[in-house]
Amino acid sequence: MNNENKNIHEFDFNFICDFFSMIQRQGPGSPEATLKALSFIGNLTDKSLIADLGCGTGGQTMVLAQHAPGNITGLDLFPGFIDRFNNNARELNLQDRVKGIVGSMDNLPFQYEELDLIWSEGAIYNIGFERGLNEWRKYLKTGGYIAVTESSWFTDERPAEINDFWMDAYPEIDTITNQVAKVYKAGYIPVATFILPENCWTEHYHIPQHKAREKFLHKYAGNKAAEKFIAYQRYEEELYQKYKDFYGYVFFIAKKSEL
Ligand code: SAH
Repeated sequence: MNNENKNIHEFDFNFICDFFSMIQRQGPGSPEATLKALSFIGNLTDKSLIADLGCGTGGQTMVLAQHAPGNITGLDLFPGFIDRFNNNARELNLQDRVKGIVGSMDNLPFQYEELDLIWSEGAIYNIGFERGLNEWRKYLKTGGYIAVTESSWFTDERPAEINDFWMDAYPEIDTITNQVAKVYKAGYIPVATFILPENCWTEHYHIPQHKAREKFLHKYAGNKAAEKFIAYQRYEEELYQKYKDFYGYVFFIAKKSEL
């Protein structure tokens, strides 16, 4: 394919996909955090239907599948991630009940009131926390669960540098108390809320990126846009190290209420 004919968005899209396909996770998280969240969810059976929205290559989906019964559909916008997802499912012999499909979280291919559980780690920000909670609720059975991680402030005030970064990247970031209120307002009973431990960022997200960055820069040697992309990833990591007392990812687990 001739890269020179691509516009900047296609380039970015390919970079993101190419880079993050090299690592197991595309967002902060860990098997332990996934299992902790799962421990709050009751009533799953072999007949349960579970959706993992913005599943990426399926790091968390495979953990979920190995510890929960039922059928899991992973949905992601990037076909390259879904190919990897389905390969991973086959390698773990989970292909009969774990399927990855290409689709968008703002136009779900499910029936209303069909799902027992909606999972989404590090991805709901793509349509926004409140919008996701409201729209996805329709697809859940009453009494069904939602388990999502979302970036949150730990304090009411924070240094300007980190505040400005988030206001530019994702202004819907909010304090944990406000997020829980949004969960409640959207028609769920909040069941559990916990902050992802630091190793979800370091050991499971940033450190695996170090080797991938070298490989990526080697592959795209001399490509300014690729260098910029990696510089941004490094900056994000530095910010986390500097300001981790002020923000992080939080798991919100909630049950659809009758409303
Ligand atoms: N859940 C994975 C991936 C998180 S990264 C993990 O925790 O490792 C966010 C994911 O959302 C990416 O895989 C990206 O491709 C996907 N995504 C972005 N916009 C989307 C959309 N509109 N619909 C579905 N997936 C989307």
